[in-house]
Amino acid sequence: MIHRLNKSIAVKFISFLVLILFVNACSSKKIVSSNDIKPIQEDKPMNIILMIGDGMGVSQVSSSYFAKETEPNFSRFNTIGLIKTSSGSHLITDSAAGATAFSAGQKTYNGAIGVDIDTLSAENIVDYLSNKEYATGLIATSSITHATPASFFAHVKSRGMAEEIASELPSSQVDFFAAGGKQFFFNRKDDTSLYNEFVTNGFTIDTLSLEKSQALSKSKKYGFLLSKDAMPRMDQGRGDFLLNATELALSYLNKNEVKGKNGFFLMVEGSQIDWGGHANDSEYIKKEVLDFDKTIGRVLDFAEADGNTLVIITADHETGGYTLASDDGDYNKIKGSFSTGGHSATLIPVFAYGPGEANFSGIYENTAIFDKIIEMVNEQK
Ligand code: MG
Ligand code: ZN
Repeated sequence: MIHRLNKSIAVKFISFLVLILFVNACSSKKIVSSNDIKPIQEDKPMNIILMIGDGMGVSQVSSSYFAKETEPNFSRFNTIGLIKTSSGSHLITDSAAGATAFSAGQKTYNGAIGVDIDTLSAENIVDYLSNKEYATGLIATSSITHATPASFFAHVKSRGMAEEIASELPSSQVDFFAAGGKQFFFNRKDDTSLYNEFVTNGFTIDTLSLEKSQALSKSKKYGFLLSKDAMPRMDQGRGDFLLNATELALSYLNKNEVKGKNGFFLMVEGSQIDWGGHANDSEYIKKEVLDFDKTIGRVLDFAEADGNTLVIITADHETGGYTLASDDGDYNKIKGSFSTGGHSATLIPVFAYGPGEANFSGIYENTAIFDKIIEMVNEQK
């Protein structure tokens, strides 16, 4: 009897201790309750890498799980969110408005490059962070003048104005870029060349290769324009351009001396996932997604080793209304199918890794990607 009594007291005492420990554990962390929905922002990154898979919805991401022998790098993320991608003018966005949402935090009209809904120039993240001494870089597998990368350095009212977009690059605050699009700089309809503009603004321009063997000087600016218009498709010999350009950018931007006292911002676009969707070509999509995934792997390796880098992977919208449906009712065979040759309005995944990643879980507007980055940067001491 006494023994039993003691036992029950002991159990009560232990329960009490556990409760105390639990309460302490909770109070040492900020709890997010329904009337305190602002995300916890304890961690702030030094470097920010934004990777955009143009037209990459959940099915495009899923395709890599059936196309690859090994686990895709998407699986390395623990923080996943969803964004709403409607533009300021349409329920279904185009890539210009979609990119401007990320680059300037503005819901603008379809076709707008770095301008707001009234066509007024909107401050972009490259300028914002450059002014805070971040080094900046842009990489794309399209022409650098194409809607997505253009929205990070240019301000024009229509995405079709490729030469006007190009004219804004030499004097922009971008420190490193690699993409296609030579013709818009050096073989222009207006018969001018922007080569001298680049040199005047401190750029070394290479139109032949990434010159990976030669280390880039961290006190200069670099531009790589490696094809006339877009870079080739993966299945037409692009090779490891995206991976190599990203590695080169990381080695150059990390602890850069041009401005980089506060780290760097790098935007990497897998531009052609979208083009596979427009073409309703499942193989094109898969190869482009795998190329993007491979680059994600290298970026995550960098971020893991660095410990001070936030990686955000997302897309501007989905393209093709792509689904991984069965082939003729055979549930052991997947045949990509499409519901449109254009974009769709489906929610888009966001994958985040690194200091501040918790801010990117949940469901929010595409413009919040910009807002969250700016908020984290401003909270830095
Ligand atoms: Mg694009
Ligand atoms: Zn598109």
